[in-house]
Amino acid sequence: MNDLHTAIEYLKGVGPNKANLLKEELKVFRFADLLQLFPYRYVDRSRFYKISELGQAEAEVQLLGQISRLEEVSARGGKKMLKGSFADDTGQVELIWFKGLRYLKDSLKLKQPYVLYGKPQPYKGSLNFAHPELELHADFKKSPVQGLQPLYPSSEKLQQKGLNNRGIARLTRALIPQVKGKIPEFFPADFLERYQLMGREEAYREVHFPRDLAHMKAARWRLKFEELFFLQLELVRQKQAHQRRFKGYAFKEVGRHFNHFYEKQLPFALTGAQKRVLREIRRDVQQGAHMNRLLQGDVGSGKTIVALMAMLLAIDNGFQACLMAPTEILAQQHHQSLAELLEGTGTSVALLTGSTKTPRRKEIHAALRDGSLPILVGTHALLEEKVQYHNLGLAVVDEQHRFGVAQRARLWKKNELPPHILVMTATPIPRTLAMTLYGNLDVSVIDELPPGRKPIRTEHRYDSHRLRVFNFLKEQITAGRQVYIVYPLIEESAKMDYKDLMDGYESIMRAFPRPAYDVSIVHGRMRPEDKEAEMQRFAQGKSQIMVATTVIEVGVNVPNATVMVIESAERFGLSQLHQLRGRVGRGGERSYCILMSSHKLSKEARTRLQTMTETQDGFKIAEVDMKLRGIGDLMGTRQSGLTHFQIADLTQDGPIVEAARQAVAEILENDPQLQSPAYQSVLRAFERRKAGKTDWGRIS
Ligand code: ADP
Ligand code: MG
Repeated sequence: MNDLHTAIEYLKGVGPNKANLLKEELKVFRFADLLQLFPYRYVDRSRFYKISELGQAEAEVQLLGQISRLEEVSARGGKKMLKGSFADDTGQVELIWFKGLRYLKDSLKLKQPYVLYGKPQPYKGSLNFAHPELELHADFKKSPVQGLQPLYPSSEKLQQKGLNNRGIARLTRALIPQVKGKIPEFFPADFLERYQLMGREEAYREVHFPRDLAHMKAARWRLKFEELFFLQLELVRQKQAHQRRFKGYAFKEVGRHFNHFYEKQLPFALTGAQKRVLREIRRDVQQGAHMNRLLQGDVGSGKTIVALMAMLLAIDNGFQACLMAPTEILAQQHHQSLAELLEGTGTSVALLTGSTKTPRRKEIHAALRDGSLPILVGTHALLEEKVQYHNLGLAVVDEQHRFGVAQRARLWKKNELPPHILVMTATPIPRTLAMTLYGNLDVSVIDELPPGRKPIRTEHRYDSHRLRVFNFLKEQITAGRQVYIVYPLIEESAKMDYKDLMDGYESIMRAFPRPAYDVSIVHGRMRPEDKEAEMQRFAQGKSQIMVATTVIEVGVNVPNATVMVIESAERFGLSQLHQLRGRVGRGGERSYCILMSSHKLSKEARTRLQTMTETQDGFKIAEVDMKLRGIGDLMGTRQSGLTHFQIADLTQDGPIVEAARQAVAEILENDPQLQSPAYQSVLRAFERRKAGKTDWGRIS
């Protein structure tokens, strides 16, 4: 009867009332659910704090001292409260009670050593404890509360019914012996040893009642590992299933186009990271399975050249390649840089966008069909039915998050077998998250910038310094440079934001009058043609200042622009700030990013701005972003269901994700279908979890 499925009301100490509350408030229906109600933190009761140490401690602490004063005073609303002082040899704190005054007054003893346990709260410059636990030190010594005490999630309602933290701990304490021998281990013994994992039953016991810090950590590691292991197993199996299911064209040759480009045409030496990624791509496309690879690399890390060389591999093997970008201007820029790189090689590249004129469009269609056009660059226009290839082998997609799954599916249909897909993104995401979110794709990372890049000097300035900032902009413009000034545009406050933008624009026009200066403006309420025209004017150097909302966030390349001013920078997220900064520093000149803000900054905003001034490493910035915002708020992860864990926490558990991924890889390498007898229990546990967890979304 006492197995894990037993209804929670059968646990000693849980009557029908408590059972209902546990179900409603904590979703605890059965023994197993209570077992998996993991402590969110532990307090160390093996140690006494000194009052002088308390400072910012938000957590519960344990003190040893004496009550030096107790008095009943009137509180608001005619009620009484009890106030006291508690002192040790380093200082004094206030104690307050609102209930049980008479009893407390009669039972608490002055000038006797007490053990106090509670949560200090700042109050009028000192600290107070409301309703602390107090126990005479003499009694405490007889049966000390020792070691790490678990803290459980609770709620107002639960607390009223005695199911506060200690109440829940009492239940778990009662539960553990009842389920002894009922918590099956599914990892084989040598697996536990190899990955240094605590046994499952012990882990459940230690997570609720840790013997000491080391056991607590080992228990949590084991349980997190288990959770992440099954997720990684699912992702890796999805990936393998993809490889088995979708055959791809094999690019067996490294031929004339690739070699000629590499030896004669390449304007610089590839970075180590670029070479590594090219090797990864080659390994994929040689095999005859379909490549579905994500290429992450910070702005300016040199993804284009990698994409081009992958395209040359396709051409060497008799295939065509295309590159699709999310906007017309980006497509143009890609077309231009590819054309420059291929200059004199005889390999042609055409541009197809919404604004390509019909005669040219027809030419392109024909050349694609007869195979005389090897490379096509463009926008969504590439997806149209009419765009038919002779033999498309590789599709490169820039900035994937702008494309929907359905659009990508259309790409897949452009040849008999789906063309290999290389998705490039300039939005770095932390490795841990990538392994989870894109765990079913192949991921390549360019984590090294080409040599000789000058760092972009990044400064935080308050609004009151705007005049000085303007003077600096004038110096830069006089020296022939160009400047971006970006305003926030948040949908919820769009109206105010437009007003800010227009006010800002007017004051910039006043500070930078014609004809000495020419100011461009681009925002979402303009017609697309007007936007394009303004962007072009700036790109061609006709205007020196580009005032814009975040629409320029993606991709434009104006190497002569050296200053990025971000207004109300405190309102931008870290990744956006980073993307915006990446618009400068693209030419040979020293570049600057100036983050303007008001004096009123939240702690988080301050951390964001400071992070920006301290580092330019997109992956580091992404880490900080993840820690600040948590996983749920990061781009695209909200609905994925990949980030809801019972005990694991991706913001902290990177090493465990790595370990789990590694373990999965090692197991599947020897036993791809998990057929060996030793892994049958793992497989069964996996299937059970999958059945109960239908929210493991598909991403690719
Ligand atoms: P992104 O990853 O942002 O697309 P690009 O491919 O546009 O970056 O490259 C940014 C700039 O760096 C380009 O001007 C490119 O020519 C240059 N570049 C790329 N790789 C190297 C390299 N290995 N050495 C020097 N410059 C490079
Ligand atoms: Mg690029």
